[in-house]
Amino acid sequence: MSEHIMRPLPTGRVVDKIFAVNNDFVNWFLVEGDSGFVAIDGGANNDKSLSELSALGIQLSNIKNIVITHDHPDHIGILELLKDIPVYGMSEKYATTVVKDGQELSIDGVMIKVYSTMGHKADHVCLVLNNRYLLTGDCLSLCGSKVGLFVSAYNLSNDVQANDIKKISQIKDIEKVITSHFGMTDKPDWSDFV
Ligand SMILES: [Zn+2]
Repeated sequence: MSEHIMRPLPTGRVVDKIFAVNNDFVNWFLVEGDSGFVAIDGGANNDKSLSELSALGIQLSNIKNIVITHDHPDHIGILELLKDIPVYGMSEKYATTVVKDGQELSIDGVMIKVYSTMGHKADHVCLVLNNRYLLTGDCLSLCGSKVGLFVSAYNLSNDVQANDIKKISQIKDIEKVITSHFGMTDKPDWSDFV
């Protein structure tokens, strides 16, 4: 049993060139690219996002690209303020470039591999950054290092999600698992999904 207590990260550097932006009950992320930042998702509350960006010393205009894990409203708020930048994702509604399962993107020098994970939402993807960091969006929950299903009430299918989690647990050489609502871990315990 998982308690599903949402514990997003505080705003700040997560690792290497990846920064977390705190947006109340959710995180979005910024990855430093060659000419600016690649955003991963965009929170819900734009006033809060702007104040967290300024705490990081990052201007909105430094965000040159955005990849969305899925198009639930708590992941795409910032799109309202970033109308003219490329949007990558599986969402037919919001993506300017619709990505596919297994696709490897190079966006402003950031390598991103896409894993379709449909248990939460049909257009949901997990992302591996620079072959090392797995951003899970809403594909799973963490309780400490223990991996569980996301909050069932918000999932499309728990059975599909269990398979999604099994699939992403097999990705090699992952150094950190970084979620949207439950913080991160270096040593994920996948034992409920083997
Ligand atoms: Zn979410």
